Amino acid sequence: MSDNWNIYADWNPWHGCKKISPGCKFCYVYRQDEMYGSETASSEARKTLAFNLPMKRKRDKSYKIEPGKMVFTCFTSDFLLEDADPWRPEAWKMIKERKDCWFYFFTKRIHRFEKCVPDDWGDGYDNVLVGCTVENQEMVDFRLPIFKNLPIRHKSIIASPLLERIDISSYLDSSIEEVSVGGESGVGARPCDYDWILDLREQCITKEIPFRFHQTGAYFVKDGRNYRIYRKDQLSQAHKANIDYRIGKYFVPETACYQWPDDTYHD
Ligand code: SF4
Repeated sequence: MSDNWNIYADWNPWHGCKKISPGCKFCYVYRQDEMYGSETASSEARKTLAFNLPMKRKRDKSYKIEPGKMVFTCFTSDFLLEDADPWRPEAWKMIKERKDCWFYFFTKRIHRFEKCVPDDWGDGYDNVLVGCTVENQEMVDFRLPIFKNLPIRHKSIIASPLLERIDISSYLDSSIEEVSVGGESGVGARPCDYDWILDLREQCITKEIPFRFHQTGAYFVKDGRNYRIYRKDQLSQAHKANIDYRIGKYFVPETACYQWPDDTYHD
């Protein structure tokens, strides 16, 4: 994990998403919308005021998102959401234009990937990182075979919120740059057992794939005992476990504590 937060930026070109699998049950977008009292249903995607952010410039004509940034993309929706199909081509154009930045999105819709990429995608844009999210074995068995065969230059597997023990070993090859695991946050969070996390870690170590335990979640189980972990401690407790393996240049953000800037959000 980098300690230099200045290298990160957020870009949420659209907001809102439809729930698609068990990991969506306590989606943080819905929780945040409720907290902010949004008048539009969280399931209704809409473009945000930040749609053109990668192209926006400051008074001195330099880009607002400075060159070299790792841009967390579409964390208040899913970049491959069906409702965003009309908007995505323009988003790709901006991503292509800004080759001086990295764009990183997570998705639970990897099965839509090939329908969603631009004509000149080829074997992938070098400045795009894709995180395929899996939360249980059913989603592993559905999403990872698809992910494995896609032309993407930078791939990570996001096992979060981890809802049960999962076996991803047959999908761990040198194309996977990182596996990141975390429990579920929020009121009513489902349990995450430390044994499942250690099991995933062993799978990664066996294949020499970088592994990160990025957050405990709110309901953590260790050695058969249940722990309630406050939101503020969920990242630091995971970090204290000190079980990351070969973590280098990328950082997977903790989406559950993600706050979007005011100017990216509107109804
Ligand atoms: S943003 Fe992610 S977690 Fe939330 S509903 Fe969409 S796919 Fe599910």
